[in-house]
Amino acid sequence: MKIISTPLELKNILRENTKTIGFVPTMGALHEGHISLIKKAREENDLVIVSIFVNPTQFLKGEDLDKYPKKDEADKVICELCGVDILFFPKADDIYGRDEVSIVAPNVRGFVLEGASRPSHFNGVLTVVMKLLNMVSPTKAYFGKKDAQQLNLISLMVKQFFMNVEVVAVDTVREKDGLALSSRNVYLSQEQRKEALKISASLKEASDMISKGILDTKQIKSKMMDILSPLEIFYVEILNRDFEYIYNVEIGNSIILVEVKVGSTRLLDNIWL
Ligand code: AMP
Repeated sequence: MKIISTPLELKNILRENTKTIGFVPTMGALHEGHISLIKKAREENDLVIVSIFVNPTQFLKGEDLDKYPKKDEADKVICELCGVDILFFPKADDIYGRDEVSIVAPNVRGFVLEGASRPSHFNGVLTVVMKLLNMVSPTKAYFGKKDAQQLNLISLMVKQFFMNVEVVAVDTVREKDGLALSSRNVYLSQEQRKEALKISASLKEASDMISKGILDTKQIKSKMMDILSPLEIFYVEILNRDFEYIYNVEIGNSIILVEVKVGSTRLLDNIWL
């Protein structure tokens, strides 16, 4: 595995490349969720490139940029064991200049749900993903369904900017008890971790209601809120896969999304139905 830290080194290595490239962008502190993306990339491509970059422009003032979990040495070992060919570890100065061109998230989809409570977050996400995709020029890029809104916006950007990459969506990996894996789970105390299980419990209840034929989104959301209480809820929403609000669940075309605060940690999760 080659470890590379500058876009120029990456460019030189990839200059003559004719192989298929699978790319997995991450912010590090890798866990089984990231590993499932890397494994899928390994299965489907000749070369696998993983980036680790805690992107400052997607954090708002007062968020956890400075204390975002960092496990560089463990991450290197994980990537090596997963058969990654190139680990790209750029620094902020390598990615951003002083006077920046940037991508702005679309007016509606970019500023609802997580975009409503974190305005400008998705501008930062889309800008860094655009830069990374341009640097790596992958055949396929892998993103988790856990960040459903991010995945939706990246797919939209790739389509609307006529970018030459296939976006692959990967299922959410969970702990045995249902908690979706996230690098931010390390912030949770034992007590808070128990509270966080209300998130997957509320999603499970929603899916049980739907399997009993209850499709009314208002009724399902109200039951979910009961389960999540007294956690601080940013949103509980049921949308179609184009991120439009719906009154009745459309089986095969819906996503139920939750974002809550447990202690001072934002946690999000969703299920695709
Ligand atoms: P992050 O390092 O949090 O920016 O995540 C990097 C990629 O891993 C994103 O595409 C995430 O959606 C994905 N990811 C994070 N957690 C999970 C999970 N539990 N299961 C599957 N993919 C995940």
